[in-house]
Amino acid sequence: RAKQSGKNAYASFDSSMDVQLRRRMRLLSELRRAIDCNELMLEYQPIVALSDGSLVGVEALVRWNHPELGLIGPVEFIPAAEESGLILDVGHWVLNAACLQLSHWRNGEVEQLRDLYVAVNVSAKQLSRGLSEQVLAALALSNVPPQALQIEITEYSLVEALDTNVVQLARLRASGVKVAIDDFGTGLSSLGYLKRLPIDKLKIDRTFVKDLPGSADDAAIAMAIVSLAHNLGLEIVAEGVETGEQAAWLRTAGCNFGQGYFFSRSVSALEIERTFVRQAFSMEPVLEHS
Ligand code: C2E
Ligand code: MG
Ligand code: MG
Ligand code: MG
Repeated sequence: RAKQSGKNAYASFDSSMDVQLRRRMRLLSELRRAIDCNELMLEYQPIVALSDGSLVGVEALVRWNHPELGLIGPVEFIPAAEESGLILDVGHWVLNAACLQLSHWRNGEVEQLRDLYVAVNVSAKQLSRGLSEQVLAALALSNVPPQALQIEITEYSLVEALDTNVVQLARLRASGVKVAIDDFGTGLSSLGYLKRLPIDKLKIDRTFVKDLPGSADDAAIAMAIVSLAHNLGLEIVAEGVETGEQAAWLRTAGCNFGQGYFFSRSVSALEIERTFVRQAFSMEPVLEHS
């Protein structure tokens, strides 16, 4: 019996692998069409100042609204897009869509959204293929000031061609665009590269936030990252803030900004607007827990 169930386990493992592989291949083969047919869409996740709970920015997160498969998250198609090179087209679409939305908010009715910034994730491939030109073109097209845009790049994708990447980032920063290192702490162990990077912010990866404030190890790591950032003159954003306790702890630790389900999941642009028209996007719980 044991043998048989073992065999079945393998069989179902194989077929689930097969299903995954087929889905992956299908997504890859349809991504080109998706970009052209406007099946990609952006959601926006609020980023708040931990000092007073005010909304300072939003992170644009890409989704694929597939006509048959429904909403597909970036974790499922970005890696395939990177392998195939289609990430350049996805990235181009994302940049333009984010800048148009930004322009809409900055010129719109809602007072609180007029000096919001939008953070956009970019991949290593974009960085090595003239990112600064692409970004400046998108800004010009939508008539948005560079200061309103933030680029997020993982430390992992920076180190591969550090010298050329530094040039690209320096150009962006010289124009006023803000640069943040995403998922900080997960990419590599050497910190020497940090001082060479023309950046404005670090985003602490959510794996270090998840077990706060209970985990003494994560508390030590988070504290060290905050102080490292501040000593380098950088601002710091905590990702994956899911509880009021975490928000309060991070605020006390000196972390400037927070992002996560405690404040809000990623939502549509319309939902960002509605929330602010109603002024119901309260950060009260942060103050309550502190
Ligand atoms: P990221 O840049 O680190 O984005 C944050 C991810 O964490 C998002 O997942 C977000 O929904 C999720 N998240 C936010 N708050 C919480 C929380 O409190 N708890 C938990 N457990 N998760 C939280 P998402 O949207 O699935 O994006 C995943 C990754 O996909 C992003 O990680 C980013 O690396 C990549 N990505 C998203 N959009 C783009 C894009 O336009 N271009 C590129 N190149 N990559 C993108
Ligand atoms: Mg990000
Ligand atoms: Mg991140
Ligand atoms: Mg992350």
